[in-house]
Amino acid sequence: MPLSTGWCALGRIAGAIAIAASALVTVIGLVAQPPPGSNLEVLQLRPNFYMIAGAGGNIGFQVGMDGVVVVDSGSAAGADAVIAAIKKVTAQPIRYVINTSADPDHVGGNAKVAKAGQTLFTGNGGAGLATNFLGGGASILSVEQVLTRMSGPSGKPSPYPVDAWPTETFNQPRKYMYLNDEGIEVYHEAAAHTDGDAMVFFRRSDVIVAGDVFDTRAFPVIDVAKGGSIQGEIAALQKLVDTAIPSVPIVSREEGTLIVPGHGRICDQLDVVDYRDMVTIIRDRIRDLMKQGLTLEQVKAASPARGYTRRYGSDSGSWTTNDFVEAIYQTMGRSISEKAQ
Ligand SMILES: [Zn+2]
Repeated sequence: MPLSTGWCALGRIAGAIAIAASALVTVIGLVAQPPPGSNLEVLQLRPNFYMIAGAGGNIGFQVGMDGVVVVDSGSAAGADAVIAAIKKVTAQPIRYVINTSADPDHVGGNAKVAKAGQTLFTGNGGAGLATNFLGGGASILSVEQVLTRMSGPSGKPSPYPVDAWPTETFNQPRKYMYLNDEGIEVYHEAAAHTDGDAMVFFRRSDVIVAGDVFDTRAFPVIDVAKGGSIQGEIAALQKLVDTAIPSVPIVSREEGTLIVPGHGRICDQLDVVDYRDMVTIIRDRIRDLMKQGLTLEQVKAASPARGYTRRYGSDSGSWTTNDFVEAIYQTMGRSISEKAQ
């Protein structure tokens, strides 16, 4: 038997085994899903910066002599595994949790992760320091709207316990800190994915944790009920593009600013440029159809997301292509009618 045939046969056998194995995984997957957070992926992006995937939304964390700054805490179910993953990297205490939105896959671990840490503000600290009141856990920082959503309207039961709530909030476009030898900028992205979005830029590490305005697996979720809008979404993507720097003029190098999306893989500036262009093209198509007087159903029927649905779209689940088109239609309509007034 010529060697090449043998290799070929071997390849076929290997292929058959692979198919059998994947079938087995599928069957096992149906029987017992591993609990969220039990198989986290921890990636070192920079000497003092890491990313955790697999516990809800992507998590970024910076380590250094001042302690650990964590961006997002993942889902509630993954919190113990996230804390263990951080402790494996460093013995330093967690000082800050910064939330990119109030979504449960980004704030679900807040209470546990903050409690596992220790506030920078030790001592008596004076009256009114919420971190002391909470027993000295890490501070939780977010845009003001995140606290509003997590605490709920007064007189009604809160969706989250008080120890999960942000202890520091801000409302201005930019909040900054200087920890672990680097400037950390937190940008408030108004009315994008929701009305409480933030992206966090670690200036020396050159990493941006983007939150759910950027999702490499799907069309961005524009949560209209929570104050999201297409114009704010595109502005947030533009802000990411403007903040990041690609590897130029030496384009062959794998360098440049790293962007951690809310979900999906690590990206560079050019990936965000492509994603922004995709969202903008679909927005423009819908705007043109609306100018022709088409109804929402007619706009959906015209498939304005064509060309992108295979990569980003979905016909089922919590965020379908039609949901995306509808969110653009609704919030575009708002800005068109506001202009007309
Ligand atoms: Zn998310």
